[in-house]
Amino acid sequence: MIRVMRPVIIAGNWKMHTIPADAAEVATTIAARTRVAGVTRVLCPPFTSLAAVRDALASADVAAPDGRGVEVGAQDLHPEPFGAYTGSISGPMLAGLASWVIVGHSERRRDAGETDELIGRKVAAARIHELRAILCVGEQLAEREAGRAVEVVDAQVRTCLRGADPAVLAPPVSPGDDAGRPWLTIAYEPVWAIGTGQVATAEQISEVHEMIRRALAGILGPDSGEAIRILYGGSVTAENIAHLAAIQNLDGVLVGGASLKPDGFAAIIKTLEKVKK
Ligand code: PEP
Repeated sequence: MIRVMRPVIIAGNWKMHTIPADAAEVATTIAARTRVAGVTRVLCPPFTSLAAVRDALASADVAAPDGRGVEVGAQDLHPEPFGAYTGSISGPMLAGLASWVIVGHSERRRDAGETDELIGRKVAAARIHELRAILCVGEQLAEREAGRAVEVVDAQVRTCLRGADPAVLAPPVSPGDDAGRPWLTIAYEPVWAIGTGQVATAEQISEVHEMIRRALAGILGPDSGEAIRILYGGSVTAENIAHLAAIQNLDGVLVGGASLKPDGFAAIIKTLEKVKK
């Protein structure tokens, strides 16, 4: 098995916040304050702000010392490329707007009734349309309290990746600054930690991340399983990032609320860069 370096990813999920004019400004401010080497920065605005953020980042001086820019992600995609799906956005429609996409976020599982089977189809669609997928998994509070967190997340990962041919899943895709890296990233986001101010402990995160890595190795083979990055998400802030950054098998964070505050988001990125390099 090859031992690989996994460059840290910091992704901001802006959820249903910003109009295009604000989004452009927030994106350039964040980008200008986070020019550190060796870190993959991804901003995920609402669909309607994707073009504004893409254009703002393209025209501003946002490159880190290693030449990396800030990449743009969507917050969801439909599994079909085209069709009678009112209000939905598909992979081909995101071409040129985003190179990443969040899939299976718990707010979509909650609000749109997304199942692991549907999310698995979205993961496959992301691969087909050359979008880097951030697949979100995580247990509910009742499942954690019942001692079932590891079992629940294991089942989510396996179902979302079921039917995915390892040969198709494993190869890296090329677009963007993350060229050569696997196109799949997993974000462990305990539902009880999202937007609540309650952060999972280092032990809880380590236990689930280790299980996810074992599951990935089983599904995709040891090399791909080792290369895929596993993030934590859930109430990450500038105040708690130092504690999280010390977790050995954590390859970055998916940040919601704090990703809209340039100072806080910059502090998160700088701390991770220092601890993880
Ligand atoms: C998220 O939206 O994925 C998230 C982790 O949100 P927050 O950081 O606000 O908990």
